[in-house]
Amino acid sequence: MSASRDIDSLIDMMARLPGLGPRSARRAVLHMIRKKELLLTPLADLMHHVAVTVRECARCGNIGAGELCDICTSEKRATGEICVVEDVADLWAMERAAVFKGRYHVPVSYTHLTLPTSDLV
Ligand SMILES: [Zn+2]
Repeated sequence: MSASRDIDSLIDMMARLPGLGPRSARRAVLHMIRKKELLLTPLADLMHHVAVTVRECARCGNIGAGELCDICTSEKRATGEICVVEDVADLWAMERAAVFKGRYHVPVSYTHLTLPTSDLV
């Protein structure tokens, strides 16, 4: 595969990300290529590392790198309170807001769903 086809494939993949269309994906890829040492290479390495290590927490459904996530392994979070959230994105939003100090539960894992996009409304 030629470099330009690889770059086109990268743009196509980036355009699939939420919030990025083809134009913004092309702009982002061009920016990363121009900042190859500062951005593209570290980002590629980090994405590979995350792809290899990421997994769903066996207890709460959060995303982490081990059998249990950092929240489930923290004794400080063992308050006896459990917040049920619809999605991991909601859990992460709660954590950013720092409004809850207990543990979470995500009832349905969306990370394993691989519906074809034609099934999505
Ligand atoms: Zn957990």
